Parts: sequence; C-alpha cells; structure tokens
Amino acid sequence: MAGGLMRAAAIAVVFAAWCLPGFAQAPPASGSRFVVVLDAAHGGDDTGGHSSDWLEKNFTLALSVRLRSLLAARGMQVVTTRESDATLDGERRDEIANHANAQACVSLHGTLTGTGVHLFASSFAPAAQARFVPWKTAQAAWVMRSVAFEGVVNSALQQASLPVTVGRTALPVVDSMTCPAIAVEVSPDKNAAGTPADSLNDPGYQARVANALAAALVEWRSEAAHLEESAGASQP
Ligand SMILES: [Zn+2]
Repeated sequence: MAGGLMRAAAIAVVFAAWCLPGFAQAPPASGSRFVVVLDAAHGGDDTGGHSSDWLEKNFTLALSVRLRSLLAARGMQVVTTRESDATLDGERRDEIANHANAQACVSLHGTLTGTGVHLFASSFAPAAQARFVPWKTAQAAWVMRSVAFEGVVNSALQQASLPVTVGRTALPVVDSMTCPAIAVEVSPDKNAAGTPADSLNDPGYQARVANALAAALVEWRSEAAHLEESAGASQP
C-alpha cells in the first residue's frame, strides 16, 4: 500500500511540475524512440508575414503537413502544434513541444524577403541541465544540441543546393523549448521566375525544402543513435 501511495505521490509531483507556471521539466532519457515536434508558426488571427497572394500562416501549415508525412514515412513519431488555421500563443506551443520529450523541435516560418533558408538557434549561453529550469530560458540547457542540430540541417539543405544562412537569435517560442530546437525560415527560391509569393506558393519548391528537412532529420536521428550507443558503451 505504501508503495502505491509513494507511486501516486511521485505521479502527483511530476504532474505538479508540468502544471507549475513558469517552470519546465527536463525530460527523461529518450531510449530508442525518435520524436519530432513541428511548430507551424502563426495561425488564426496571427497571419505572420503577408501580401495580397501569400500568408505566412498558410505557408507554415502547408510545410508542416508535408514534412509530417515525410517523417512519418521514415518511422518517426511526429507531434504538431497545430493542424488547422488555429490561433495559438507561444506558451501553448511550448507546452505541446515540451510534453513530447522530442529529439528535435522545428519551428517553421516563411518570409517573402531574401532567398533560400535561414536557420536560427537560441542565442542563450549554454547552461547545465537541471530538474527544474525557468520556463523562459529552458532552452539554455539544450542549446549545445540545438546548435549541433542546426549544423546537420545546414548540411542537408546545402546538399539539396538550397542557399542557407545560419544564425543565433532570441526567439521566445524556441527559447522555452526543452529539446534540440531551431527555427527554420524559408525565403523564396533564388532561381524562381515570378514573384516571391509565387515561389513560396509553388508546391515543387515546398516539396524540395520539406525533402531536405526530412533528410536532415534522418541524419540527426542516426547521430542521436550513435551518441546513445557510445554513452551505453562507456557504462561499466
Ligand atoms: Zn514567422
């Protein structure tokens, strides 16, 4: 009976940790499952960038839907922050992402300016992982892995002949994520004819970006598996 109560108490503590506003809990070791969170930025009342024939919120959702099916076909478990034109605040996105105990979190954006793909990781200095970390700076404990993940995505996009820029910046949604996390901002294809909106609306270009991101996640999964193997091998 005491065991049962202690178990119940432990569950209550975990539950309380998740529900405590202002705190995020570090997830447990991942085992062999590989979970990806896709966050289609903006949505509902928040259109994001827009022109007469392009809305960022629609673009990010279309890209999320494409990527989700590519990743599912590669055996990954995918959690999305939205599947429709819903209004979602940053805190809700982070709740969804942090509940997933994911090996990769990708926040998707689009912009009519520039060309190619811009990658951003949090600008936080690395911090040690702790059981409880302040919600607003939760990403600090993950930022080394986020930068490594950003590097893998950079290589995959370059292999797909997509121009890439890589940066670090303050991103409220990413900064509260407890996973290797980056923001991916897609600009028009530099070789496309027509307007920037034509390029971003082009299903062929969307598919090319989604395929390159899927290849990056396949590579990141195999790197994560190798890291776990070597961690296991070093155990006495
Ligand atoms: Zn955006």
